[in-house]
Amino acid sequence: MAELDAVFKDLCAFMNDLSVERCYGCEISHPSQREHACLCATDDEIFLTNFDAAFDLLNKDKLLLAVRDLLRTRGLEKFC
Ligand SMILES: [Zn+2]
Repeated sequence: MAELDAVFKDLCAFMNDLSVERCYGCEISHPSQREHACLCATDDEIFLTNFDAAFDLLNKDKLLLAVRDLLRTRGLEKFC
């Protein structure tokens, strides 16, 4: 499923960017890397701590249309 791999890569990149945007250490340009949640967090921690903010940023109407299109292309119209 190359499409899902591509979506997952894009999602990871987006979550990492969001982690940097929300990092207090980046905001104040703290010289210590230990003060940067964006550098210290694991991928799982980045997802957990930024999920709500990411969800709030989603264009949910556009997402639902994309999911519907994906289901149709996979022959799964019954889930639309
Ligand atoms: Zn940072």
